[in-house]
Amino acid sequence: MITRIITIDGPAGAGKTTVSKLLSQKLNCVYVDTGALYRGVAYEILRQKIDWENDDILELFLKDLDLNFVMENDGLILMSSGKNITNFIRTPQISMLASSSSAKPQVRAALLDFQRNIAKTKDAVFEGRDMGTVVFPDAAYKFFLYADLSVRAKRRYNEMPDEKKDVNSVQKQMETRDNNDSQRKSAPLKPSADAIEIDSTFLTIEQVVDKMLKIIEKA
Ligand code: C5P
Repeated sequence: MITRIITIDGPAGAGKTTVSKLLSQKLNCVYVDTGALYRGVAYEILRQKIDWENDDILELFLKDLDLNFVMENDGLILMSSGKNITNFIRTPQISMLASSSSAKPQVRAALLDFQRNIAKTKDAVFEGRDMGTVVFPDAAYKFFLYADLSVRAKRRYNEMPDEKKDVNSVQKQMETRDNNDSQRKSAPLKPSADAIEIDSTFLTIEQVVDKMLKIIEKA
């Protein structure tokens, strides 16, 4: 079966998830938030108190890891060993640990086939950091979505329910995570040479999706 794959890469808070969801609805296909997988790894590292910087321990941990997606109409459910962990993976602690542990090549290798297998049977919009560069180099359309750091931090801050939130610390964490993600050796965050770059600093989600649809429909 030949499937149509669209990739959206970019830094944290650029709007990838909302854009992917909306775009997939318009195109009547599924969307896959690959960041959730790296968050799932971080969640299990924390829960099982894994010394992930030790390669032998990390290898054993990854062998037992059992992550899966259940695709529902209005979103994705992340399962770990049969348990729904979707509501536990969006904390700042998990964001930072996902970023540091995802630099390990073994972690990336463990998730690679899982992502590619989804693409074998379904048309999909995949969002992440290395979708266009590493996971789906032959994707039909590749986008790289970015925005000014302060705008991305403000957006993330507005999404957070916690009253004790603070926009400066959100921005600091985001900057650290972007730096980790773009400077790592293994599958760093960067636009694929053939990606179409979209700056969402002054655009609404609908405007971004419209731009993408125009490009896809024009072809
Ligand atoms: O997209 P999200 O912010 O949920 O991703 C969390 C972390 O997972 C990122 O900061 C990044 O380190 C890692 N990630 C990755 N490759 C992807 C998706 C996410 O390394 N394709």
